[in-house]
Formats: sequence, C-alpha cells, structure tokens
Amino acid sequence: MSRMHWRHPQVSFAIDLVRDCARLARRIQQSTVAESLEKDDRSPVTVADFSVQALAGKRISEHSPDLPLVAEESAALLREPSAAPLLEQIAAHIREFEPGADPKRILGWIQRGQGQASQRYWVLDPVDGTKGFLRNAQYAVALALVEAGSVTVGVLGCPRLDLSQTERPEAPGSRGCLVAAARGEGAWVLPLDDSEFRPLRVSGVRDPRRARVLRSVEGGHTNLEQMDRLLAELGVDRPPAAVDSQAKYALLASGCGDFLARLVSAAKPDYREKIWDQAAGTLVVEEAGGRVTDLDGRPLDFSMCPRLTRNRGVVASNGLLHSAVLAALAKVEGRRAG
Ligand code: AMP
Ligand code: MG
Repeated sequence: MSRMHWRHPQVSFAIDLVRDCARLARRIQQSTVAESLEKDDRSPVTVADFSVQALAGKRISEHSPDLPLVAEESAALLREPSAAPLLEQIAAHIREFEPGADPKRILGWIQRGQGQASQRYWVLDPVDGTKGFLRNAQYAVALALVEAGSVTVGVLGCPRLDLSQTERPEAPGSRGCLVAAARGEGAWVLPLDDSEFRPLRVSGVRDPRRARVLRSVEGGHTNLEQMDRLLAELGVDRPPAAVDSQAKYALLASGCGDFLARLVSAAKPDYREKIWDQAAGTLVVEEAGGRVTDLDGRPLDFSMCPRLTRNRGVVASNGLLHSAVLAALAKVEGRRAG
C-alpha cells in the first residue's frame, strides 16, 4: 500500500518529522566520529541528540504551537562558552534542513523540549540508544503524542534497521525504516526513503521454549542475572538478542521477536522508566497485536511524566506469551503473580 489515510490528524506530521530527524541523525553518524559530552548522569550526549531535538522543537512549535513538548535534552550544557564549537557544528548540520538555523535560535528550539505534561503533549527521545549510536549499532528517533494519559500516536525512526531483512535486521547497508502507529489504526512500517507502507503484525509463537527474546545491550539497563533465571524458568532454548533502543519494539511488532522484558537493574532498584523511552515503542507493539504491561502486569500509565512512577519495568510481548512471562517473572522474583 503506497498511500495511507490516517484518521488521527497528527500522524502524517509525525511521520514527516521523524523522517527528517532520522535522516539528520544518519547524516551526522555518517559524517562525524560522533563527539560526545558528558551529561550530569554521565550518559553520552552527542551532536545528534541536540540537533534532532532542535529540528523537532522548531517544527513542533510551528505545527502545534499550543502543545507542550517533553523531550530528553536540555540546552543548559550548550549555553556554556566552552560549548560554542559544538553549537556551531550542530548549526551546520541543521542548516541542511532549516536554512535559518543559528546558535541562538537553536538553543530556543532545544529548550522547547522542556515543556510540562498536560492533557495533550508530544514526547520525544531525539536519539534513543545513544550508546548504540556511538558504537554504530541500533538507535531510534522516538516521537509520540500522549492524550489523556494514553499514547495515541507513536513513530520510530530507525536509520539502521531493516525489517524486510528478517534474519539480519542490522545488516550493513540496511536502508533504515520508519515504524508508525496510531491508536486503533494499526502499526505500519515504511522505508526511511520511501512511502510504501506495510502492516506490522506480532508473531504467533505460543510456546515459551521457542521464544525469541529481546533485551538491552547495556547490562546496566536491565538485570542480566534475573533475565537468565526468567529464561530458565520459561525453558527458553536460545539466548536473548541484545539490541539497543526502541528498535526492539519495532522488531517485536514485526514478528522478529516474541517478547522483551525491561527488568530492573539490581544497582538501581528504584529506577523508573522515562516516558520518552517507552511511549512510541509500546504503542507500536500494541497496535501490531501485542501486549505491554509493567513487570507486575499493570498497564503503563503515561499521565505520569517524565517518569512512569506508577510502573516498574516493562514486559512487551506478542500477547500470546504475556501471561506465561508474567507468571515466570513473579516466581523468579519470589512473589505471587498479580
Ligand atoms: P536500551 O537501549 O533498551 O538499553 O534503552 C536505552 C534507554 O535506557 C536510555 O534512553 C536510558 O534513558 C534508559 N536507561 C538508563 N538507565 C536505565 C536503567 N537503569 N534501567 C532502565 N533503563 C535505563
Ligand atoms: Mg532513550
């Protein structure tokens, strides 16, 4: 299907925006040895994160002047005099998409992302999986619209993911894809440089022993020891695939995986997921026929912002395996299934 008519009025805008953002990120990845600053929490933040957030901030301001944008980055680091060369680099990249970009405007566009959640708001992770970006693996631009505490539109731009190559999604030379979903309208994939939409559907795997499991590459973002026990409890017969970013949700939605679990790191037992890491990806899985809850089986509550403080971790699955995963997890955690 080459043309899509979406009932939700914001989907086409979100797809066009994420397409440009993903192309911008891809160009930066190809043209630079990505430079990174250290944020306060010591996670890497690159020229790409700031550039993508600036481009999105500008376009969202024009398109939805009244809607807040809640995005990961802040312009504070870039205001320091020592960041001037970095800001110049960012400006040079953005000018290919927005010729009027200059450092002062760019700071304002990035700061547009420091909005407060309200009844309706945009959520953006400019480069989800920055560590994957830095090591030339998977990353995603993730944009979602939240309305009344529920995600209604979600778009992932995955410049290094090719869902048409089921066996080797990270094959070198992959052309990249966009995955888009709207509540009640399904989940769809299209090539990053084309408009040929194809519907996504989760897998039909019912036997946990046959499950293809997805997990974070970063051991600190999950609990690898507990993951081993969970897989043993389920009798899963192959090791999980480690993939950075919400590309995992795109793989799950396309049937290239059967479930994923964001287990809580033992080093950070109080960690609560950030909304921009989950909003777009979880809608994509649900609209492809899958199911998403937290580790206790509760639905994710996106009226909480910027963290999902009413939830703990995430389980996303093809739906068929969901209760088995939750029950095994409860056993592994030594509690009764909720
Ligand atoms: P992934 O690529 O699936 O590992 O997810 C990347 C995201 O994990 C980043 O955008 C971070 O916001 C988030 N993150 C950072 N620390 C943690 C943690 N302790 N537990 C879960 N997620 C985390
Ligand atoms: Mg992220």
